[in-house]
Amino acid sequence: MEQYNIILINRVIIMSIERLTSAVRNISDFPIPGIQFKDITTLFQSPEHLKDLSDTIYDLYKDRGITKVVGIESRGFFMGPAVAIRLEAGFVPIRKPGKLPYKVIEEKYTKEYGEDAIQIHEDALNENDVVLLHDDLLATGGTMVAAYNLVRKLGVKHIYINFLIELEELEGRKHFPDEVELISIIKF
Ligand code: AMP
Repeated sequence: MEQYNIILINRVIIMSIERLTSAVRNISDFPIPGIQFKDITTLFQSPEHLKDLSDTIYDLYKDRGITKVVGIESRGFFMGPAVAIRLEAGFVPIRKPGKLPYKVIEEKYTKEYGEDAIQIHEDALNENDVVLLHDDLLATGGTMVAAYNLVRKLGVKHIYINFLIELEELEGRKHFPDEVELISIIKF
């Protein structure tokens, strides 16, 4: 009976992930030629898909003792706070330079064209936090590696990483240590 339930739950999860995958809109050559842009607004505008997404992420992390969800500007701010509320955790933003008003620590990283940086408030997390780091999409991994380093700098030892979408052929996940659990809901 227990086994039957597990199979049933997995079938429900697989079906919901198939629905979510087909709801993502692909825009060719945006914002520049050659990019296949994954538009998540089509996923968010459907109440059923939004609930599916929220339920799926909640089920994945509900037993992990998450104390803070950390979202990366700007598309990590869509689901980040919603997930934090369901997990009864706090929400912490990682932002581009010049946006956070209090004392910050910063991490620089390389993008396709030149360097970029992200910041977090220096008192936003501590070593007792269990963090769920969240962003919309894993491409090369540069942004999330910088975010992971920021969170580590604040002394956090337990970090889970979550993306809505992973572009598997770019192999972004290989830049993270093996011991870090990295889960993406939708894979292309
Ligand atoms: P990366 O640092 O290369 O992993 O890039 C991740 C960030 O860039 C995410 O925050 C995404 O919002 C954005 N991004 C990169 N590639 C795409 C894409 N093909 N479609 C939509 N967003 C993308």
